[in-house]
Amino acid sequence: MRLLVLGGTSEARELAALLVGGGLDVTTSLAGRVARPRLPVGEVRVGGFGGVAGLRSALRAYDAVVDATHPFAHGISANAAAACAAEGTPLLRLERPGWGDRSLPSWTWVGSHEEAAAAAAGLGERPFLTVGRQELARFVPVLGDRAALARVVDPPELDLPPSWTVLLSRGPYLLDGELALMREHRADVLVTKDSGGDHTWPKLQAAAELDVPVVVVRRRPASPGVVTVASPGEAVAWVHELVGWE
Ligand code: NAP
Repeated sequence: MRLLVLGGTSEARELAALLVGGGLDVTTSLAGRVARPRLPVGEVRVGGFGGVAGLRSALRAYDAVVDATHPFAHGISANAAAACAAEGTPLLRLERPGWGDRSLPSWTWVGSHEEAAAAAAGLGERPFLTVGRQELARFVPVLGDRAALARVVDPPELDLPPSWTVLLSRGPYLLDGELALMREHRADVLVTKDSGGDHTWPKLQAAAELDVPVVVVRRRPASPGVVTVASPGEAVAWVHELVGWE
């Protein structure tokens, strides 16, 4: 059994560790976006496949795929669904639950980053943007004159407005640090994607403690027909069933 894990998340690393520990042949695929990625155990390949056609060719070396990419990595998840369907390769989606169940009245849910920029502009003057480097350009037209704090893992590739401050850092984060950061910046609105999980949850706790409103970008619906689980443990069970283990 040769398994391809589409990775780039903590869940993907956890899954690889569990499966490699159980003796399975696991290759994790990373996009190659971040300069110093946290590497999973097992084999690792880096870089895009070249769309659905490239992924279809690559799939011939594997018996099954677990798409454990980030909930907002929509492109690769759609490609995985299309390529696996075309090749008849079993596909599981491993996606951590979103934060919908923990939503507060002070949260505004929106359908896109452009809507998030507009909502944030109406809520505050000093936004704290935690949407990822690749999305920042979508906030510049509306928030370019605000004193924004943009927290990203790697330096953004575009020139940001002079009123913006870029903070390079990588989670997980703790509540005390998030409180200190938001107080220091005097953030009056927090913008986030519905990434879910606990690693970046403390910023939402801090916002609640400081009475700071939050704008949350909703996830897109999952690809139709793809079996989805929420935890690495459930993904291990799916793989075991495929292999025919007890
Ligand atoms: P994306 O927009 O869904 O994908 C764009 C293209 O990047 C894909 O078509 C594919 O290129 C390549 N790609 C993406 N993930 C890949 C992977 N795991 N292995 C090989 N190629 C991959 O992706 P994204 O949102 O930029 O995310 C890139 C990576 O960062 C993902 O692995 C994701 O798990 C991780 N990540 C994303 C976020 C986020 O907020 N989006 C946050 C944390 C981590 P080809 O078409 O050439 O195959």
